[in-house]
This record gives sequence, C-alpha cells and structure tokens, in this order.
Amino acid sequence: MNLEQLFKQNFPSFDFIFDYPLANKSYFKIGGNAEVYYAAKNRQEVIDLLVFCKKQNIKYNILGGASNIIIADEGLTGLVIGFDFNELKIVEETQDKIICQADAGIKTSVLVAKIAAKGGSGLEGFIGVPGVLGGAIYNNAHYLKDLISDNLIQVEVFDLEKEEISLFTREKCQFAYEQSIFQTNKSLLILSAYFELKKISPDIAKEKVRAAIEKRELTQPLDLPSCGCVFQNPANNEQLKKLFPQFSEAEFVPAGFLIDQAGLKGSKEGDVQVSEKHAAFFVNLGQGKAEDVKKLIHRVKTVVLEKFNVILKEEVFYLT
Ligand SMILES: Cc1cc2nc3c(=O)[nH]c(=O)nc-3n(C[C@H](O)[C@H](O)[C@H](O)COP(=O)(O)OP(=O)(O)OC[C@H]3O[C@@H](n4cnc5c(N)ncnc54)[C@H](O)[C@@H]3O)c2cc1C
Repeated sequence: MNLEQLFKQNFPSFDFIFDYPLANKSYFKIGGNAEVYYAAKNRQEVIDLLVFCKKQNIKYNILGGASNIIIADEGLTGLVIGFDFNELKIVEETQDKIICQADAGIKTSVLVAKIAAKGGSGLEGFIGVPGVLGGAIYNNAHYLKDLISDNLIQVEVFDLEKEEISLFTREKCQFAYEQSIFQTNKSLLILSAYFELKKISPDIAKEKVRAAIEKRELTQPLDLPSCGCVFQNPANNEQLKKLFPQFSEAEFVPAGFLIDQAGLKGSKEGDVQVSEKHAAFFVNLGQGKAEDVKKLIHRVKTVVLEKFNVILKEEVFYLT
C-alpha cells in the first residue's frame, strides 16, 4: 500500500493534499512539494496523525507559517502537518494583568493585535513577525532586545515519545536568544502557550503596535519574498569592540551590520540576493531555489569569517 492509500484508509475523513506545492505556502516562495500535506483542525488530529507516523515509521515535518525555513528543492517525503487551530482564550484579567492561552496555530500578529486591543502589553514589538505562535516559540522570536519568551508563563506540549500532553514552565523550555528546547528535542510539539501581560491603556498598547509596524516598514524589505534574517546576531567580543566601538556596550553585534561591512549587500546566487535594504535578509527576486540560498549562505559565512573572524550561524531552519 502506498502512502496515499495508507493515510486515506486510516483517516478517511481527513482532507489530505497529496503532492502539495510548499513554495506557495512559504514566505520565501522556495521549496518543492510535500508528499502529503494536512492542516490539522485541532490538537487531537495532530496527536493522532503523529502517533500514526511514529508507529508506521513515516517521516513527518511540522509547518508553522513557513517564514523561518528553507524547504528543500526536491520537496519533503512523508507527512507535512500544519496547525489550523488558533483560539485565544483570556484565562484571567485584573486591573493590572491579563493571562491568556493562545493556540500554536494563531498568527503571531493576530495574537499581538488582539491582546493590545485589550490593553495587554509586552508583545507589541512582535506585531510584524510573520508566521504563527508555534514557530515563534520554537525559535524564541526576538524583536530588538525583547524575546517572545519574556512574558511567557508555560507551554502546552505534546511529547511524541511519551505520548502525553504536559505543561512546560518557561525554565523547562530552556529559552535563550534564538533557542528553545523544541529545537533540540524533536519529539516535543508546541500545542499552545500561556502569557502574562501587564495591563495598560489599550490606546497606549495600540500606539506601541503602530510604532513597531512603522519601524519595520522603514528598515525591512517587506515588498519581496524572504525568510527574514538568515543569521543569528553573533556574540560581541574584544576584537569586535575594537573594530566597531559603536557596539562596545552591546551583547551582540547585528549580523546584518557585519554582512554590510563585508561589502556583501546586493550579492546574488541565482535569483536569491542579500537584500539591499537590510543585509541580514535574503530576498527571492523571482525564481530563487533552496540551492541558491545555501550557496549564498556559504559565501556570506566565508567572507565574514575571513574579514572579521566571526562564525555566523543560521537563524533559519532547514526542512529536508
Ligand atoms: C519579513 C520577515 C520578518 C521577520 N522578523 C522577525 C523578527 O523580528 N524576529 C524574529 O525572531 N523572527 C523574524 N522573522 C522570522 C520568522 O518570521 C519568525 O521566526 C517566526 O516566528 C517563525 O514562525 P513560523 O510560524 O513561520 O515558523 P516556521 O518557519 O513554519 O517554522 C520554524 C520552525 O519551527 C518549527 N515549528 C513550527 N511550529 C511548531 C510547533 N507547533 N511545534 C514544534 N515545532 C514547530 C518548524 O518545524 C520549523 O523547524 C521574520 C521573517 C520574515 C519573513
């Protein structure tokens, strides 16, 4: 029995899509087809499908909003599962704070806007982060010095190995800049997250959201397909402080600044280019391929290492 028959037979009511073009879904407009794609309507569907994949030894990939990934040109075998559930619940609201629970499939921008409208403050800077909450928690999304985990209390997790749902405290999630336990333990799936937000005037929260949108529009190449910042900002060190005293107090030096200083703005491989507007972004000028992205990543890493003795590390994730 082939994969299509196997899924149809075991989940007859699920509307799977076979040979689904993932490039359409990705922000970068890059990547081949998924052998099987399914947008899960609730957490039980996610659990049932992934337990099935585990038992049948079928490869799977989790897809959030597809804004921080490079999908292989040859496509993905097995199942690609998206999270199409996106509820936001207010768990507690007082004069001083709001505690909410948001599903992994909610768009990050929708969560931020809805919470700001209620006067919840702390997430405003994340308004322009594309994708969904699951993806934002996976990489611990950042905006300037803020991390999405700063206001997070706990994450609802399904552990595929143990086949159980539990709540992970912030500490247990091992959050740091661009890091979380979900990157190292692939059997952990993010189902939802709880945030505790300070209560301020909704008008002030909405104004902070507006200011964050404006700042992004000025600095980022939002008119072209991209995967956002390709590299993590490297940790500062004595040598970099001497070279760039303007960052002497900073913990990290912006990767985009180093790429710009290395003269790489506008560099191209095929149709993939280091953005002219923001050197940390790679943009797809039309027919970009994952192979072009990889070649450009290699070139940028090589030049930055030669010029500044800095090893750049990818912020994006590869789905293969
Ligand atoms: C224009 C632009 C601006 C951006 N600005 C920022 C920014 O300011 N700050 C920032 O940090 N990032 C930024 N990014 C990068 C990206 O948008 C964020 O990291 C975003 O949070 C990724 O979410 P996603 O849903 O798209 O994740 P995806 O790209 O779909 O997935 C990323 C990873 O998370 C895993 N994953 C997704 N959901 C789950 C889940 N429920 N359980 C377990 N694993 C899961 C996937 O398997 C994958 O490995 C930007 C990108 C673009 C294109």
